[in-house]
Amino acid sequence: MLTDYHVHLRPDDPDTPAERYFTPANAERYREAAAERGIAELGVSEHVHRFRQALDVWDHPFWREQAVDDLDAYCGFVREETDLRLGIEADFVTGREDRMAELLAARDWDFVVGSVHFLRDRAVDMESHDIWEGARSADDVWSRYFQTLGEAAACGQFDILAHPDLVKVWGGERPRPEGDLRRFYELAMGGIAESRIAVEVSTAGLRKPVGEPYPARPLLEWCLEAGCPVALSSDAHLPGQLGYRYQDALELLESLGVTELAVFDRRERRLEPIGAS
Ligand SMILES: [Zn+2]
Ligand SMILES: [Zn+2]
Repeated sequence: MLTDYHVHLRPDDPDTPAERYFTPANAERYREAAAERGIAELGVSEHVHRFRQALDVWDHPFWREQAVDDLDAYCGFVREETDLRLGIEADFVTGREDRMAELLAARDWDFVVGSVHFLRDRAVDMESHDIWEGARSADDVWSRYFQTLGEAAACGQFDILAHPDLVKVWGGERPRPEGDLRRFYELAMGGIAESRIAVEVSTAGLRKPVGEPYPARPLLEWCLEAGCPVALSSDAHLPGQLGYRYQDALELLESLGVTELAVFDRRERRLEPIGAS
C-alpha cells in the first residue's frame, strides 16, 4: 500500500474559498491523480488556521486573516461527500495545547497531522512573520525549532509528526547552522522516542528551496531506531502534487530497511506493507 495523508484540497493562495474546493468533483480529481500514482490510501488534512474555530485556540494575526471557513462543514463534507480519510493539519502552539486539544477532541478524525510552523509568533516557513527577520543566530532558531518539535511529539495530540525538519525549508536562502546537525535533532528525540509518534516522510521539501525530503536521513534513522513508524506524504496542495517524487522517498525507505507504512482509521494506527496497489 502507498499512502498520502498530508494533503490539502486547495492552494494556500488568496481567493481559494471552501465552496470552490470542498466539492465532490475536486475530491474526485485528487482520487484520480492518486490512483494514477498507485496511492490507495488517501486522506486530506486542511490547515487548522483556515477555520474560524482556530481563533479560539490562537489569535495570531496570520490566523485572523485566514480563519474564514467552518471546521464542522469541512468535516461533514469529507465524511459525507467523499471517500477520503478525514484529517487535519494542526499546529503545535506553545501555551495553547489545552485549547488545541479541545478543538481536536470534539471531532471524529481518522488522523491528526501535527506541525510546528511557529516559534512564538514567528513562522519558520513563511515570508510573512519570518523567524529569520532579526533572528539571533541560526543555532538559536534551529535549537528552538527542534526543542518545540520534541514537545509537539510528546504532547499526545497528534498521530503524525509533519515535515520534521521544516526549519531547513529555505535552504541557502536563509542562514543555516554549521557542522553536524545531529546536535539539533537530539533536542527533539526525547519527545519523539517517548511518544513513538508516526514520523512523516514528506517529499514536499523536494519542491522547496532546500530540495530534499523531510526529515534528513540521520534524523529519520534515529526515529526508526526509536521505534517510530513512517507516514508517507507529499503535502500536496494540488492534485498534480500527490505522490510527488515518491520514487525518491521509496528508495530512501528501502535503503533504511523500512518495509511498512502507518495507516490510520478513526485514530487507530496499523502498519501495512509498502507497495503500489
Ligand atoms: Zn505544514
Ligand atoms: Zn501541509
